[in-house]
Amino acid sequence: MRKAMLPMLLIIATAVQARALDANEAKAREIFRRVISYKTEIGQGQVPEMAKYLAGEFRAAGFPDADIHIVPLGETASLVVRYRGDGSGGKPIAVMAHMDVVTAKPEDWQRDPFTLVEEDGYFFGRGTLDIKNGVTSLAATFLRLKSENFVPTRDLVIVFTGDEETEQKTIADLVRNHRDFVDAEFALNSDAGGGSLDENGRPTIYTVGTAEKTYASYEITTHNPGGHSSLPRADNAIYDLADALKKIQAYRFPVMYNDTTLASFRSSGAVTTGELGAAMRKFAEDPKDRAAADVLANSPEQVGKTRTTCVATLLRGGHAENALPQSATATVNCRIFPGVPVNDVTRTLQDLVGPAVSVSVIGTPTFSDASPLRADVMTAVTNAIHLRHPGVPVVPTMQSGASDGIYTRAAGIPTYGVSGDFIKDGDDFSHGLNERLPVQSFYQGLEYWYVLLKSLSAPQPSGTAPRSSAR
Ligand SMILES: [Zn+2]
Repeated sequence: MRKAMLPMLLIIATAVQARALDANEAKAREIFRRVISYKTEIGQGQVPEMAKYLAGEFRAAGFPDADIHIVPLGETASLVVRYRGDGSGGKPIAVMAHMDVVTAKPEDWQRDPFTLVEEDGYFFGRGTLDIKNGVTSLAATFLRLKSENFVPTRDLVIVFTGDEETEQKTIADLVRNHRDFVDAEFALNSDAGGGSLDENGRPTIYTVGTAEKTYASYEITTHNPGGHSSLPRADNAIYDLADALKKIQAYRFPVMYNDTTLASFRSSGAVTTGELGAAMRKFAEDPKDRAAADVLANSPEQVGKTRTTCVATLLRGGHAENALPQSATATVNCRIFPGVPVNDVTRTLQDLVGPAVSVSVIGTPTFSDASPLRADVMTAVTNAIHLRHPGVPVVPTMQSGASDGIYTRAAGIPTYGVSGDFIKDGDDFSHGLNERLPVQSFYQGLEYWYVLLKSLSAPQPSGTAPRSSAR
């Protein structure tokens, strides 16, 4: 069936290919095709192969070997490439993406996930949206700038990691053990932020990711001597756990805010009606306004933006239906407000449930503070976005997931999620089946990165006078 349909699909694909590609676009498309073809899922050992391919492209474009580093780590690797500047503009700028992808099972997909397919105005394939498009845009931009003999005023450093979707050990390794490779005044992450389109394809908002909540899960466990269920005792591991969970349910962490959340409430308050919109505006003006904070806390979409949240998500306990339980455990998942140490939350949970209940954090979550809203970054991003989409609001945002940016921020490198993608909500299949990216978004993103990197690292034209003093 699939084979019989192929010629028709090719005709459609040809029909929507509206325009010829210029040399830079064609090169980017070729890189995109190649990087999608590497099966860079966890356990496949393909990330170093993909890094080698990209390193070859940089070498061929004239980057010296000394500035191209493949940093192996277990079955995966990072790739760091330095574009040397003349140093007049200060410390380097890092630009980030990850080479790994979420596992994709070909039998579940309509098309092979590891073959780039262009069809009906979309690029299909695992990583087309998360985030081999970012890898491609950044690599192709470096090649283009090099071919134009561009000399940046500061080093630009590509930082491609190899396990963002799983363990995030490569970024941890880079900031801890290879700081000299990746050190930067700030980092731009292609894997966060980005633009939204409405159902008619009109841009509505562009978000810059400047903060991430810390993801931390806890096990809350009660213990009991147990016994026969025909002889119930007053204490019981399951009842005790239920009591502990009710205390966590009733607790509200203190209201918190930062520049990012206030700016975000200010802009969403301007377009939100009713009590909720009024609360957003009031909170943005005065985050000590308790009544406004309470309204926001009652909205499931907003509650996480004003405080740390913790909620029970998994449950297990007991061992037989006719025995008193010897233990019961609940998993409680917390999204911790940026800048709050994980230990503070651990202590709060322990205080809530009391000393007889054990509280243990799962793994070693990394926490980071929000990045300051740097005027140079916000201005350059806004200008680059407005070049394509004039007037679209550019709004800082706090994410509740964890990208590699949480590690660079924790290491003292302010990090900004500034993806070049504009997509509809309905087009977001990252991590899922049939992941895709609008073809137009791909080429616009490419141009965006070129404009953005150049504007942050090009020599300022000398003799530019303020407009008022010029004749
Ligand atoms: Zn990603």
